[in-house]
This record gives sequence, structure tokens and C-alpha cells, in this order.
Amino acid sequence: MSDIPAPIAMLAELTHRCPLSCPYCSNPLEMVRGAQEMPTEIWADVFAQAARLGVLQLHLSGGEPAARRDLPELVADARAAGLYVNLITSGIGLTAARLDALEAAGLDHVQLSLQGVRASTADRIGGYKGGFDRKMDLARLIADRGLALTINAVMHRTNLDDLPRMIEMARDLGARRIEIACVQFYGWALKNRAGLQPSRAQVDQAKAIVAAARADSNGRLVIDFVPPDYYADYPKSCMGGWGSTGLNIAPDGTVLPCHAAQTLEHLEFQNVQQTALADIWYRGAAFNAYRGNAWMPEPCQSCPRKALDHGGCRCQALALTGDAAATDPVCRKSPDRAKVDALLAEGETGTDADWVYRMSPV
Ligand code: SF4
Ligand code: SF4
Repeated sequence: MSDIPAPIAMLAELTHRCPLSCPYCSNPLEMVRGAQEMPTEIWADVFAQAARLGVLQLHLSGGEPAARRDLPELVADARAAGLYVNLITSGIGLTAARLDALEAAGLDHVQLSLQGVRASTADRIGGYKGGFDRKMDLARLIADRGLALTINAVMHRTNLDDLPRMIEMARDLGARRIEIACVQFYGWALKNRAGLQPSRAQVDQAKAIVAAARADSNGRLVIDFVPPDYYADYPKSCMGGWGSTGLNIAPDGTVLPCHAAQTLEHLEFQNVQQTALADIWYRGAAFNAYRGNAWMPEPCQSCPRKALDHGGCRCQALALTGDAAATDPVCRKSPDRAKVDALLAEGETGTDADWVYRMSPV
């Protein structure tokens, strides 16, 4: 146990309910219903357990966390446990009065998602008419209160050409940071992959735009950029390594090494309502399944990059090769890389007319 590091960050999916229906939503296809969500007092205990375990940052997410009426109490409970509290929100369901209550409860930071740079595109992507205008109003309310703001921009084939305007908007809205994340193919995004995959030309242009914007921003706006990994030669360092720096809690208390891990159906995930969080983190079979590098196959086992990328993503390996322990097929050294190249070719023909929208559970 002594060589297992404590987690730094925890993502709490308070609910899977959401008024939006983004076709790239990272929630699982089988979502937790409202009646199965953990009540306030159990979440408060989970936050206290997380702080004792070593977690410093709590990300309150969903679905849409504002769909929980007890959101201010949950923020206050997390702050009382000594956690830095970040709210990841679509903004729908937040009003001036609710923002005041969240600020009074000690909320440290807001991450507001934007689906696009204009109402026509953004509302079509989010499947919610009027959503864009409400987000703009909310961003102004956040700025008025001086709350730290990050803009989350999920980019894909339909909106990647609007990247320059997205960066400008983040500046105009007073954000300190923008996270530009090209869609990663899990959950609903995997289902809609052909209609979301950007072209290579779009990706090359996006990289150039980000480089120019960083050079121009003088540190006033921090720009994080997650390129689409299918176009990369090496995989991303998923979660900084399995069971290494962070964990996720689903709305019903299921504890996961990452938000997509429920697709690994051969693993049994424990629930924090039955087992202490520290036991799950240190001793849980699922958290130990891909920890460290003893489990790695070749070519990862003898590769000098294994300490950098940990062999890539287990969920992606399973989705694309059928074997969760395989080398992430994004890697040029993987025997399965041809599958990724074939999918890139398929992506060139997809359109947003084929999207299947994510539906909210009741
Ligand atoms: S539907 Fe959209 S806004 Fe709602 S949780 Fe999913 S990605 Fe976020
Ligand atoms: S072979 Fe494995 S460790 Fe090496 S770069 Fe590829 S995925 Fe990473």
C-alpha cells in the first residue's frame, strides 16, 4: 500500500440528469436514474472520506449538477471537508440567486461548457433551444461576482472551424482559462464517432490556431488543448495512470478509476455506500487491475515511454481491440494501429445528421 500514491482529484457525478442532450456526452449509455442518486448526507460523508484519503480538488459534475436542489449544501459540505470545489456546469438551471447561494457556500471555481460560438450551432449541438443565450447571461453573472471561470469547449467536426471565435469569446467573458478538448470517443461520443470525428486538415489548423493564440495571450488567458488522439502517434496518459492520481464517483456511489471505466464489464466496481473509499482505492480489485506496469503486454513492457503514457487508455483498448489489457491502438507501435487508421477514413464521411442525442434519465 505504501507505494500506491494518494489521489489528488475526485470527480463527483452528482446526477446523470441534464437538460442538454450533447451527442458527445461522456456519461455512460446506461445512466443512473434520479431515484438511485445518493442523498446529501452520504455525499457529505464521501467528501470527508476523500479529504482524509488525500484528495485536494473536488470537481462537481454530472449530467448537470445544478439539477440537484441541494447543490449549495453539497458545496458547503465539500468546503467543510477542506476541499477546493470546482463546479462543471452547462449553466442551465443556475440563476443569480443560486449563484449567490453557491458563492456563499464557498464555491471556488466554475467551469462553464459552451457547445458553440453562436446560438444556431450551440443549441443544435446541445439539443436545447435558448441554451446559448442563457449561458451568455450566466457567464456575465459569474464575471460580476468575480468567481474564477474556465470555459470548457468540446470541439469536433461541426464546430472546430469556429475555434478562433471560441478563444475570443473566452477572453470577452472574463475567463482565466479555456479548456479546448477535441472529443474523446467514450460513452455517447463513441456511438456518434463517425459524425464527430474532425478531419486531419481541421486538426492541423486547430493546432496552429492554439499556438498563435498562446503566443498572443501573454498569459492573460491560459489555453489547454487536448487534440483528438486518433491523429496522434502515441496515446494520451489516461488519468495520469490507472488508480494513480484521480477517481470518479457515479451518482449511485459506484467508484471508478475514470468516467468511462464502466465499459470494462469484466471488472467489478465497488460502491462507496458499502465499502470505505480508502479500501476501494488501495485494495479494490478494479483499482489494482491496471495499476503500475506489471500488467502491460509487449510492446509496452519494454518501451521507454511506458512511464510517460502508461500504455494509454484501457477503455479505448477494449473498445477498439476487444482486449482491455492491449496496447492502446492509437500507438504507432500497437499491432492494432490499422484499426484506428481505418476509423479515421470512416470519419471523413460522417455527418451531424447521423447524431444520436443523449437522453436524460428520469
Ligand atoms: S448532455 Fe452535454 S451538458 Fe449535459 S452532461 Fe452531457 S455533455 Fe454535459
Ligand atoms: S508501446 Fe505502449 S508504452 Fe510505448 S508508446 Fe506505445 S502505448 Fe506507450
